[in-house]
Amino acid sequence: MLKDTTAVVTGASSGIGAAVARALAAEGATVALLARRRDKLAELAGAINTRDGGRARMYEADVTHADAVRDTIDAVARDCGGIDILVNNAGGGSWGPAVTAELADWHSTVELNVNGVLNATHAALPHLTRAAATHGRGVADIVTISSVAGRRVPSANSNVYSATKHAVGAFSEALRQELAEQHVRAGLVEPGIVATELTTSGHAYTPEATSVAGYGPLQPDDIAATVVFMVTRPRHVALNELLVRPTEQT
Ligand code: NDP
Repeated sequence: MLKDTTAVVTGASSGIGAAVARALAAEGATVALLARRRDKLAELAGAINTRDGGRARMYEADVTHADAVRDTIDAVARDCGGIDILVNNAGGGSWGPAVTAELADWHSTVELNVNGVLNATHAALPHLTRAAATHGRGVADIVTISSVAGRRVPSANSNVYSATKHAVGAFSEALRQELAEQHVRAGLVEPGIVATELTTSGHAYTPEATSVAGYGPLQPDDIAATVVFMVTRPRHVALNELLVRPTEQT
């Protein structure tokens, strides 16, 4: 369904982003994989281009560096003939009691989860509005990966992480209203616990916050399927917000 489209996926080197990239490529999109770890990007691009029979290009970039992100997004548009879909997925950050937190960790979480989304979105907007106006699909998409932490009342220890995810939720809704008449859909996906490096590395979340008994956590492919569903709706349908939790997450 996404034949002749180009999708930029930030944070495509692992977890949800890698799964989203593979799923969009399987629908026929050319995927531009953006992240910092070159080896992981090369591995994924190789798998999509050879094993999966899709089309992927890799772009090494840090989403917190605005100029580099703009140069990269412009390069994608040149290389691929435009940009139809932006998936703002790169994210992560600190999680823990405020009294023992390092201020620098809070700042880097805001830099990544908020400014990273702003940098990529600002750079992609001219390409997306152009695609919506000129491409046969008649619509373009910005999908931002927020979190259940950006939807519900924030819980203890989620402080700055929740703040950043609420921020991108507010940004996405304002974008939705501003861009509706230009046929650029702004959708928000809010995952519950997903088994990725973020939840298994022990850096970001406490083990209690990431355990789901029984059926277990979501898998990256569950979120990838949600993103694909969102961007493959007919052009008169806009899915604005999807909250996806593991069945047993309370
Ligand atoms: P991962 O740690 O597996 O993936 C994070 C991705 O972000 C990596 O590809 C990483 O690539 C990239 N990234 C991190 N910093 C930067 C940067 N400065 N510039 C460019 N890319 C960067 O975690 P997830 O897949 O779990 O996380 C993806 C998104 O999903 C995040 O926004 C997260 O907040 C959200 N989320 C995750 C949940 C979960 O339970 N896992 C739940 C709810 C939301 P690299 O290091 O190569 O740059």
